Amino acid sequence: MQSITGRTKLLGVIGYPVEHSLSPAMHNAAIAHLGLDYVYLPFPVSPQKLKEAIAGFEAIGVVGFNLTIPHKQAILTLLAQISPAAEAIGAVNTVWRTEAGWKGTNTDVEGFIAPLQGMSRDWSQSAATILGNGGAARAVVAGCVELGCREIRVVGRDRAKLAQFQQSWHNTPFAGCLTVHLWDELPEVVLQTDLLINATPVGMAPHRDRSPLTPSVLAQVRGGTVAYDLIYTPSPTLFLQQMQEKGAIAIDGSEMLVQQGAAALQIWLQRSVPVEIMRQALQAQLDSRAS
Ligand code: NAP
Repeated sequence: MQSITGRTKLLGVIGYPVEHSLSPAMHNAAIAHLGLDYVYLPFPVSPQKLKEAIAGFEAIGVVGFNLTIPHKQAILTLLAQISPAAEAIGAVNTVWRTEAGWKGTNTDVEGFIAPLQGMSRDWSQSAATILGNGGAARAVVAGCVELGCREIRVVGRDRAKLAQFQQSWHNTPFAGCLTVHLWDELPEVVLQTDLLINATPVGMAPHRDRSPLTPSVLAQVRGGTVAYDLIYTPSPTLFLQQMQEKGAIAIDGSEMLVQQGAAALQIWLQRSVPVEIMRQALQAQLDSRAS
């Protein structure tokens, strides 16, 4: 790492907790590779202190920052501008300074679609099914819209939350292609699914032996389905292993993590960034944690 001086520009991530964040390793590797005088630091900030922290960032001239749990929604009211993507999702993960004040966007959408865009498939005839209706599922819906999927089905366990989820997209042009379903409908839904995304934490370490899929769902999976798990530890998850056994193509969550980070760094630096270096830095972190 190059030496820090009075001219070093500051980037970072705010979370609570934040000590397990993989972002500092990814971003600092890219910064070092580019030979830039920046540093990216993790900041543990409690929900009660978010406003003060942002004011402090303004005072000390922070260039930009990421947000992770639990701040992605709370930051919305503290920004001068919000991108249409972040507005639609209702969450911000990347913030930077403009003349008008802080501006926020959500790079999870770019992160999510990057591995799918690399597959040279025409997604416009595809039906996507999203398991879960939390924060990440919102970015996935926006991603599926950007890909042009003709149908988007969201599966959840709470009828009221599902209704609220659907209602939140009511005023968007794609509201007509979004339907919501309870888990017991999944065997039927999966029959007409080209892209199946796990946006629940089911199967995440340490609960590696769990899968969101039951035998009756697996029995309906078509070969050639693309199975995408947002989870990156373990890799592959049981969900991806089960889907691969059914002839599916598997994508884990690590590329999404790399690509959302690369998109954020590109905004802050206003230049292209070394994605492969970020990918290697992330993998090294994941490997060291697995051993
Ligand atoms: P979240 O807001 O807490 O939402 C989790 C969703 O999963 C909710 O809809 C929840 O249902 C559902 N769920 C939780 N446990 C379940 C269970 N046992 N059975 C069925 N449904 C269950 O979390 P999130 O931020 O959306 O994150 C979801 C996953 O995506 C996490 O594993 C996270 O690590 C991953 N993620 C990865 C990336 C990446 O870059 N790769 C980015 C963001 C998130 P209820 O609402 O009914 O509780």
